[in-house]
Amino acid sequence: MVGSGIAKEALASLRYSELLQSRSFVNGAWVSGESRAEVVDPATGEVIATIDELNVDIVDTAVSAAADAFLSWRDVLPAARGAILRRWADLLREHASDLATIVTAEQGKPHKEAVGEVSYAAGFLDWFAAEGERAYGETVPSHLSGSRLTVSWQPVGVTAAITPWNVPIAMITRKAGAALAAGCTMVVKPAKETPLSALAVAKLAEMAGMPPGVFQVINGDAPMMSKRLLAQQNVRAFSFTGSTRVGRLLLEQASASVKKVSLELGGHAPFIVFDDADLSAAVAGCMGAKFATSGQDCLGANRIYVQRNIYDEFVRRYAGAVGELKVGHGLDSNTDIGPMTIESVSQKCREQIRQAIDAGARLVIGGVDNPLGRQFVTPTVLADVNDDMNIAQEETFGPVAAILPFDSEDEVLKRANSSEYGLAAYVYTSNLNRAMRMSDRLEYGMVAVNTPKFTGSPIPFGGWKQSGLGREGSRYGMQDYMEQKYICFGNLNG
Ligand code: NAP
Repeated sequence: MVGSGIAKEALASLRYSELLQSRSFVNGAWVSGESRAEVVDPATGEVIATIDELNVDIVDTAVSAAADAFLSWRDVLPAARGAILRRWADLLREHASDLATIVTAEQGKPHKEAVGEVSYAAGFLDWFAAEGERAYGETVPSHLSGSRLTVSWQPVGVTAAITPWNVPIAMITRKAGAALAAGCTMVVKPAKETPLSALAVAKLAEMAGMPPGVFQVINGDAPMMSKRLLAQQNVRAFSFTGSTRVGRLLLEQASASVKKVSLELGGHAPFIVFDDADLSAAVAGCMGAKFATSGQDCLGANRIYVQRNIYDEFVRRYAGAVGELKVGHGLDSNTDIGPMTIESVSQKCREQIRQAIDAGARLVIGGVDNPLGRQFVTPTVLADVNDDMNIAQEETFGPVAAILPFDSEDEVLKRANSSEYGLAAYVYTSNLNRAMRMSDRLEYGMVAVNTPKFTGSPIPFGGWKQSGLGREGSRYGMQDYMEQKYICFGNLNG
């Protein structure tokens, strides 16, 4: 078995063992539950820890604590709130190696990528610490004589978040950084696969001096807890990152009390390579856009469209690069591709490979079997994929690359846009006019031209169509946690 025992050993040798918590963090205290749940190393299936699962009633306790905490947190000066967020960010960076070990142990991604996630996560706390001080309102030139019209931004109150397992630390700080900087309080329910990462983040919040009730993490049954959270009248805003299927369900549940909702859902990114592109850069870029987080990334290139006259050369070079990827345990420093965090992802990869081959796709490298175990997927390249195959329509969320030939710009634009998803798209071309035309016309929330790297705290992250609602990060990220208030001061001369 690959890496037998190493995740447990690594957790036992953390430099700061207090990061490893098993209880939930409620109202500034560590709370035990009635039952225990196992946390598993996805590479080996070994149990690496157990955590307390709380009864759904804890939701009421946490929301009530968050409501009390809000009354004072909203009045803390933005600079003082920012100081706590910055301390939290500094602590994340100080403990980056330990945090990355926890992420790798329960999520599976290579340790070097997990270190990168911690830095990405800390960036959101720093960013929003500063943005909180810039939540300017405006004065509106009046249409009413003798009056002064102002518009200000105010925090909505208690907020809740449900976060996924693929980026288990940064998806928490991207939401909590914005909410807390705006003056809101937040209750987080992390994915059941990655509770240890979330509890470590909570431990660092406590160490940063977070007042009780401002930031809380609860573990338990996700459907029951989210239902209870969304039924609470005084949870005013709700943020979710995860699948479109669950996002739809939660949107429906949130509608009963008309909450502000932000959703970061699935993606099916087109990666378009024109024949005038720098081919080496396109091959390298497509490696990053496809295989980050072992392919378990909502930004993952799911349809790689390559113009026909460079198609064979691209496929040859790309398969060569994919063949160099090392699959293994995330704690092995040579590993590029770790296990899939949940078995349904590796199963879906295998099904998509089989279905595509049966329908006429060409297996260039990789395949359905991996000797390391059921949760590992061999990095695979399928060529001659067509638009009707499952892989060209359903999100893969694993290290399987589907390459499709195209002939003209109009044709590829139409095919790229014919998806219910609209999160990210990539274009490789050296023609400036084409780059502008394509980026204008792609129906996606984010378009990357000649690069696979574009995320970070300053940019508005979010999707169009069924990829979600709202934006995270950037100067817009706090708006999901604030309401505008218009005030008319009348009769000033009276
Ligand atoms: P998922 O099943 O939707 O799970 C995500 C979260 O939702 C987990 O915390 C899970 O909790 C919870 N959950 C699951 N079923 C629920 C229900 N019936 N009611 C309430 N909560 C529920 O997603 P996944 O398949 O694990 O994650 C991968 C998906 O997330 C992909 O589609 C990916 O594209 C998307 N994603 C999007 C972004 C983005 O920013 N747009 C970023 C990352 C991932 P439990 O684990 O406790 O069940």
